Amino acid sequence: MILFKITVVSFVLFTTTLYRVNGQEVKKHTKMIKTEAEWKETLSPEVFKIMREKGTERPYTGIYDKHFEKGTYVCKACNTELFKSTNKYDSHCGWPAFDKSIAENIYTNSDFSFGMKRVEILCANCGGHLGHVFDDGPKETTGKRFCVNSTALQFKEKD
Ligand SMILES: [Zn+2]
Repeated sequence: MILFKITVVSFVLFTTTLYRVNGQEVKKHTKMIKTEAEWKETLSPEVFKIMREKGTERPYTGIYDKHFEKGTYVCKACNTELFKSTNKYDSHCGWPAFDKSIAENIYTNSDFSFGMKRVEILCANCGGHLGHVFDDGPKETTGKRFCVNSTALQFKEKD
């Protein structure tokens, strides 16, 4: 019995540690929980395809690719602030690119689809797929390139 208890306790401790070590994992538990059917009702088919089915808009077609106004980009599905215009830069990659996110509102996941190893970025509030983050961003700042679908974003002008 004691041995059993020790096993249980160490298992709990182990999983707790894992949880803490990988801080990003904690954020997987998004605050806004909806079923996929509910999302389908709320979002336009285009947004649903990108944000819930992890789609990618065609390069150079998104409305925010060449958009450089001052303001904030929020999540198209839940309005959470994700990126500031001061972190947006022209990466010529065909999608809106940022060298930094509003960190607490985004979490990452390893993505092995299409035979590539990429890091997916998602909204921490609703779990919506946003795009990917790469290590080929501007060296003079963060070195990161947050490559985001315009479809997953809504721009809010600074007032
Ligand atoms: Zn969201």
